[in-house]
Amino acid sequence: MLQAETTLPILMYHSISDMPRQVTAQNFESQIVYLVDNGFTFLFPEEIGHSYRYERPVIITFDDGFRDNHDVAFPILREHNVKATIFMITYRIGDEDFLTAEQIRSLEASGLVRVEPHSHFHSIFTGIELEEVEWQIETSNAILQEITGRVPRVFAYPFGEFNDDVKQIAAQHYDIAFAVDNGYKHDVMALYRSSVFNSMLRFRIAVAPFGQVISIIALCMILSTASLVAIIVQVRKGYSGPD
Ligand SMILES: [Zn+2]
Repeated sequence: MLQAETTLPILMYHSISDMPRQVTAQNFESQIVYLVDNGFTFLFPEEIGHSYRYERPVIITFDDGFRDNHDVAFPILREHNVKATIFMITYRIGDEDFLTAEQIRSLEASGLVRVEPHSHFHSIFTGIELEEVEWQIETSNAILQEITGRVPRVFAYPFGEFNDDVKQIAAQHYDIAFAVDNGYKHDVMALYRSSVFNSMLRFRIAVAPFGQVISIIALCMILSTASLVAIIVQVRKGYSGPD
């Protein structure tokens, strides 16, 4: 059984654009540069079992397969030689705003990006029949295999939703499956991922080792205590009651 490195940050993006709740191209580049400058090693999910070899491993993922992953994110990834994984809704291949089969092939040919299944219809797996779950898992797997010539061994649950039955079906086809913030650090069939937003502070916390998170929290507390003291001093200065 594959062992996950439990402290490894696994980041989840969707579209790289100005759409609400998405990360802009500018912030995406800042985040990638931050990781490169801070000595992170970028891994594919299959390499998770070897992540202990690296001081600061990280996995970059994108869900749904937006076309801007190819047009906007990929040039940034290529410039900084960064590996990433895209989880594709296979029903969407070729739709406006989503990756085409040709783009998937060209991303895969770069050696930097792997395109893996994210189900066929992007249904909530805990709300449909298990036969349908199995069909969507098999269909999305077959479609990507046809396009990339590679057998996918990694999966991301639509909306991160899973239960024990869903996990069991996924385990028949995959070595690794990703959830979202409902996942676990230790369970390779339901791994935890951190959603990335435009906030650089939230991003730094998501990729920080545990000790560093404590330092950031301590720093915030010191800063807020310092500002509280400053406020009290100001208030007392302004107080002109009787002695
Ligand atoms: Zn999704």
